[in-house]
Amino acid sequence: MGKILIFGHKNPDTDSIMSALLMEKFDKNLGFDVEAVRLGSINKETKFVLDYLGIEAPRLIERVENDQEVVLVDHNEFTQSVDNIENAKITCVVDHHRICDFKTAEPLYYRAEPLGCTATIMYKKFIEENMEFGKEEAMLMLSAIISDTLLFKSPTCTKEDKSVAEKLAKIADIDVDKYGLDMLKAGTDLSDLTADELIKLDAKEVMLNDVKAQIAQVNTASIPEMMKRKEELEEAIKNTIAERELDIFVLAITDIIESNSQAIVLGNRADLVEKSYDVKLEDNTAFLPGIVSRKKQIIPVLTKNA
Ligand code: MG
Ligand code: MG
Ligand code: MG
Repeated sequence: MGKILIFGHKNPDTDSIMSALLMEKFDKNLGFDVEAVRLGSINKETKFVLDYLGIEAPRLIERVENDQEVVLVDHNEFTQSVDNIENAKITCVVDHHRICDFKTAEPLYYRAEPLGCTATIMYKKFIEENMEFGKEEAMLMLSAIISDTLLFKSPTCTKEDKSVAEKLAKIADIDVDKYGLDMLKAGTDLSDLTADELIKLDAKEVMLNDVKAQIAQVNTASIPEMMKRKEELEEAIKNTIAERELDIFVLAITDIIESNSQAIVLGNRADLVEKSYDVKLEDNTAFLPGIVSRKKQIIPVLTKNA
């Protein structure tokens, strides 16, 4: 059947790329024939990490053949996975998200922990296997943790993520705050992206009960700067809603310095955001103080009201 393919979710973020690379190293050490691949373009934050380490991005794939053996990292929902995932053979999942509509024909390894980052679980796997690793692996793990926890400020960040990151910073011999801020800021340089690219950069399609939604997030150092593009963003969002037949599209523009978000919300169920946060959308937008985590502060909250 050839190599087992390892990948994170579509519209890959730093954790999805780093955890796939880490899983590839881990499985190769155990003697498996595996290849890390990706399901979308590399964002600038991830590019910063790859350039820093001087390593290549994994190969891009869009679809898998029937019965292809695959390992999923950083996701489990089929709506976020590779095309034809329904007919692939999932041998293993390592993830830190809710488990939703997940179904396989055969037994598999499944590891889920409610931690801030898949790479934290990868760290634990290396330790449990007594597998040695060096600076490069430490930087892959650390970068993913910084990304997913917004430099430990997100409510998704656990004590375990923090203490693992401290150990990794020692191994990598790096100033985490300086490196982390440089890395996050590299990801906020979005001026050369079209509105359509911007809303797809970190978008996830999810079912909120029966409500078909896309929740997209972009990191910024200035919400007003990003809001200058509101009109074209709304145009792109409307197109996506029509194309994907969505009930709601939420774009969270997240200020990584102040830890707040401005939401642009469109769709016939835009009321979900109003109910969930007790806000009134004005001109399709509302400020959401303290909201930075899609996983903990957006998806579950909207689901409750859906
Ligand atoms: Mg992710
Ligand atoms: Mg993650
Ligand atoms: Mg994320």
